[in-house]
Amino acid sequence: DMPLLDVRDLRVTLTGSEKDITLVDSVSFTAGAGEILGLVGESGSGKSVTALAIMGLLDMPGLVVSGSVRFRGRELVGLSQRALRHVRGREIAMIFQDPMTAFTPVYTIGWQIDEAIRAHEKISRRDARTRTVKLLNEMGVPDPERTANRYPHQLSGGLRQRAMIAMALSCNPALLIADEPTTALDVTVQAQILDLLRGLRHDYGSGVLLITHDMGVVAETCDDVLVLYSGRMAETGPAAALFARPAHPYTTALLDSIPPLTGPRPARLPSIAGVPPSPAARPSGCAFAPRCHYAHASCTTKPPLIVWEEQEVACVLPTEGHALPPRITAGET
Ligand code: SF4
Ligand code: MG
Repeated sequence: DMPLLDVRDLRVTLTGSEKDITLVDSVSFTAGAGEILGLVGESGSGKSVTALAIMGLLDMPGLVVSGSVRFRGRELVGLSQRALRHVRGREIAMIFQDPMTAFTPVYTIGWQIDEAIRAHEKISRRDARTRTVKLLNEMGVPDPERTANRYPHQLSGGLRQRAMIAMALSCNPALLIADEPTTALDVTVQAQILDLLRGLRHDYGSGVLLITHDMGVVAETCDDVLVLYSGRMAETGPAAALFARPAHPYTTALLDSIPPLTGPRPARLPSIAGVPPSPAARPSGCAFAPRCHYAHASCTTKPPLIVWEEQEVACVLPTEGHALPPRITAGET
C-alpha cells in the first residue's frame, strides 16, 4: 500500500558561504491518507523548512534540496516550478499561523475563495459562490453568505483562520500542511480549529501534516508524531506510544512542558534550559547533548536512529539499557 506522502532522507543545505550549512539533515517519514502527523519541535528545529521543501517552495539560490519526496508515488524533488504549482493548491494545500498572509486585504473573503475554486475548475462565479458558502458553513463560520462578503480585516482571528482552511480545502487537497495554525488563537478557538482538522480526515479523507511546537496540540490531534531537533529526527512513532513511553530525553522535556488539563496550574512550567543550536554551530555527536540531563561520553558520537518499542529514536540510552529515562520533573534542573 503506497503512502500518501513518503519522505526519504530529505536534506536542505544552505550553500554559498565558506561552509555548507545543513538546515534539514536526513529526515524520513510517511503520512497516510486520513491521518494526522504532528511535526514537533522548538522554533529553529527545521519544521517549517521541511514543510516548504515538501511543497517545493525552497526554489532559491543557495538552497539545495536533496533526497526524495514522493506524493502519491510521484517524485516531487527536482520537478519544475510549473509542475509543482499544479500540485500545490490542487493536491497539497498549506495553511499558516497568520491568515493575513493567505488573503489579500482588498478583496472579500468570498471573492478570494471563489477565485481559488475557479483557478482549478471551469465553473461559473455563481456556482463557485455556492461552493464557497457551503465550505464556510462546514468550517463552522456563522452566517456564511454574509461573512463571504466581508473583507479579511473585518473578521476575528478565529474566523479568518476558518476562512483560510475553507480556501485551502476548496480544491479537495489530498494533503493539508498546517504550520502552527492555532498558535495565534486563544484556547477556546484553538480547540475549535483542532476539532476542525480532526474532522477533515473523516469528512475529506485528507492527510494532515500538523506543524507545532506544542505537545498539548499533538496530544489533542495527532495519530503519529515526528519530533525534530536541530534539523534532525529525535524520535518518531505513534502518538500514544510517545506519550506513554517517550524514549528521547528531548521528547520527555517537551511532554513536561504541557500545562495540565485539570487541577491547579503550576506557577511555572518546567522548560528546557538553553536553546537549540543554530544549524551553523551544531555540536558534533548528539545535537541535544548540551541541554541533555543524560549526556555522557558515548553522546559525542552522532546517535543513529534505532527502532525501540513502537518508535524510532536517535539516542544512545535505549541501546545502553536505560530504556526509559526518568521523567524530568518540575523544579529539578
Ligand atoms: Fe542525551 Fe546522549 Fe541521548 Fe543525546 S544521545 S539525547 S545527549 S542521552
Ligand atoms: Mg516555523
